[in-house]
Order: sequence, then C-alpha cells, then structure tokens
Amino acid sequence: MYMVSVDAEKCVACGECAGACPGSVFVVNEHAELTGNECMGCQSCILICPAEAITLSEF
Ligand code: SF4
Ligand code: SF4
Repeated sequence: MYMVSVDAEKCVACGECAGACPGSVFVVNEHAELTGNECMGCQSCILICPAEAITLSEF
C-alpha cells in the first residue's frame, strides 16, 4: 500500500495536487490534505507540486 503525506509548512495551497491525482482526493484549504485511501503510488502529485511538499511512503 502507498500513502502520501503533505508537509503543511511547505504547502502553498496551489491546488495542483488535487487536479493531478487520479486515485485519491486532495482537499486544499490553507494547506492540502489527503482523504480516502486509494493512492496508487503513481507520484503524479509529487511531480506536480511546486513546493515539494508531498512525500510518498510504501508500507
Ligand atoms: S501518488 Fe498518485 S495516486 Fe497517490 S496521492 Fe499522489 S497522485 Fe494520487
Ligand atoms: S501541489 Fe503541493 S503546494 Fe500545491 S496544494 Fe498540493 S501539496 Fe500544496
């Protein structure tokens, strides 16, 4: 399984990750949060994030 986490101190709330993710749902307010648990580990959100705020874990 994969899980992404967002560093709230780096996130600039641009919303790019929400548009890039096909498997999970990002909710962007003051910073992005991930809801749901369907991350496929595709790294699209990580690659598109301009703030390098997203990290991927495999467990
Ligand atoms: S790695 Fe892919 S599936 Fe997982 S949260 Fe990011 S964009 Fe979505
Ligand atoms: S792409 Fe990065 S900076 Fe933009 S909302 Fe998502 S986590 Fe935050």
